[in-house]
Amino acid sequence: MIILKTSRELSLMRDAGRIAAEALRRVGEMVKPGVTTMALARAAHDYIVKCGAAPTFLDYNGFPGSICVSVNDEVIHGIPSEKRTLREGDLVGVDLGATYHGYVGDTAASFAVGAVSEELRLLSDTARESLYLAIEQAWPGGRLGDISAAVQTHCEARGYSLVREYCGHGVGRVLHEDPGVPNVGVAGRGLKLKPGMTLAIEPMVNQGRAAVKLLPDGWTVKTRDGKPSAHFEHTVAITSEGPVILTKVEG
Ligand code: MG
Repeated sequence: MIILKTSRELSLMRDAGRIAAEALRRVGEMVKPGVTTMALARAAHDYIVKCGAAPTFLDYNGFPGSICVSVNDEVIHGIPSEKRTLREGDLVGVDLGATYHGYVGDTAASFAVGAVSEELRLLSDTARESLYLAIEQAWPGGRLGDISAAVQTHCEARGYSLVREYCGHGVGRVLHEDPGVPNVGVAGRGLKLKPGMTLAIEPMVNQGRAAVKLLPDGWTVKTRDGKPSAHFEHTVAITSEGPVILTKVEG
């Protein structure tokens, strides 16, 4: 069931989104060689709690961390660790959520650790661009397939592939609501987009093949071919005036 939000709910979601976005911005500023993935999680956790919000991912279905940190060939759901130190040339994906007054903001970005290869830079830039192209499609009267196709077309044109097993989602009072928002699809097909829908759009873009595998920790998703992956995400509201990014930093 798709839950349409009232303008009051959208304003609460914007507050949650702003906290999540600022936490992500702060984590991004900390990313450099020698930093552990746990240090990133701690910083995000502390900021979110200081704002009077809760880190949405902590204990979500038993997830053992306040954020997800996925390095290089890890696609999503990497578990923060004191033992995992970022190294020059890594690409680190950070995904986090903040729950504030009962509403969730969910956002992610990939960050370069120090100087990265031109190849990784292009992968990351393409994934980010595909997110914004997808957001531009989030207008009432459009179709869910317009969002998916925008991601797929942009990334596949550059030779990348999209993860099939995991996708974006509705978001609101809980982290995962209907509908699923796939990163592959056909424009003009699928669910009709309506004002009040709130979607987490999140391209997961692989440099190599699309196939992924789940690690024995039960959480971390990696590419099967060991090639890197990039991930960007915003929580977006569909309004009569068009798409509104809720996970935006202030100003
Ligand atoms: Mg998400």
